[in-house]
Amino acid sequence: QADAAMYHAKASGRNNTQFYRPEFTALSTERLELERDLRLALAAQQFTLHYQPVVAAADGTLEGMEALLRWQHPQRGLVSPLDFIPLAEELGCIEAIGAWVLDEACRQLAAWRRAGVGPRRIGVNVSVHQLRSAALHGHVQQCLQRHGLPADGLVLEITESAAMAQPEQSIRCLQALRALGVNLSIDDFGTGYSSLAYLKLLPIQSLKLDRSFVRDLERDDNDAAICAATLALARTLGLRSVAEGVETEGQRRFLEAQGCTLLQGYLFGRPEPAAHWTAQWGAAPNPT
Ligand code: C2E
Ligand code: MG
Ligand code: MG
Ligand code: MG
Repeated sequence: QADAAMYHAKASGRNNTQFYRPEFTALSTERLELERDLRLALAAQQFTLHYQPVVAAADGTLEGMEALLRWQHPQRGLVSPLDFIPLAEELGCIEAIGAWVLDEACRQLAAWRRAGVGPRRIGVNVSVHQLRSAALHGHVQQCLQRHGLPADGLVLEITESAAMAQPEQSIRCLQALRALGVNLSIDDFGTGYSSLAYLKLLPIQSLKLDRSFVRDLERDDNDAAICAATLALARTLGLRSVAEGVETEGQRRFLEAQGCTLLQGYLFGRPEPAAHWTAQWGAAPNPT
């Protein structure tokens, strides 16, 4: 039992002590299985990217696509990133997975550009562990070079909570990335604890208003006020604004009237495999 407790504590990937309890066994077995599978998933090529359009609020033209990670698990089916990214962060494999995402998203944007279709930019979500890693800067540079992309074609999305966790360090990491010429965006804005003093120091180009405020803005005056205020803040700071989770025409109209620059949500398109978009744009499918 002592061994089991040790193993469990180690497997949790943290330095804190955890005590083995029989009633946790079922949960632990499930978790250990998921851990084992996740460690193998990259080599087994079980990851894939879906892409969701980002459009200009003014006229609906396609501005970018956001790459969203999917895990095709052999037994469980498609696993949501919300269910495995926190685990990958704990296990220390998010950096390898994130490196694959970055390379694959760049490869896809380059393929679309060669075919003369698709967006100008691709958005990639970056975990706080990647942001803090010394390898990210070089890897971004290599991916752009390998696929012949201009740095301006890449948008790195960092969540507000990640950026603000250690703001001084984030500012340094983001400055180095910005020096490469890539675009930086703060994701899920409004859900973290932003210090406005730090926000103005971040070398970012856009704010992504979190979906939770957009969802009820037609019914909830407070949410509508938060959306309007955030969009005004972005404008004042000279940043572009992106609203996530736009599902209705009413939301679209409100956000456009409030000066939102870019929109993303099921109203314009769901996250879909690259081939879906390639076919929709009428280009020859790219070899994969
Ligand atoms: P996010 O970056 O804020 O992505 C937006 C999420 O909202 C996506 O969920 C997307 O499918 C969903 N969404 C977009 N439009 C709508 C809409 O109109 N209605 C509703 N109900 N949902 C909408 P998804 O794909 O499940 O991703 C969840 C989160 O997982 C992402 O949130 C992001 O934080 C993280 N994630 C995804 N891919 C990666 C990745 O490659 N690396 C890292 N580190 N995180 C990732
Ligand atoms: Mg995002
Ligand atoms: Mg987001
Ligand atoms: Mg969000």
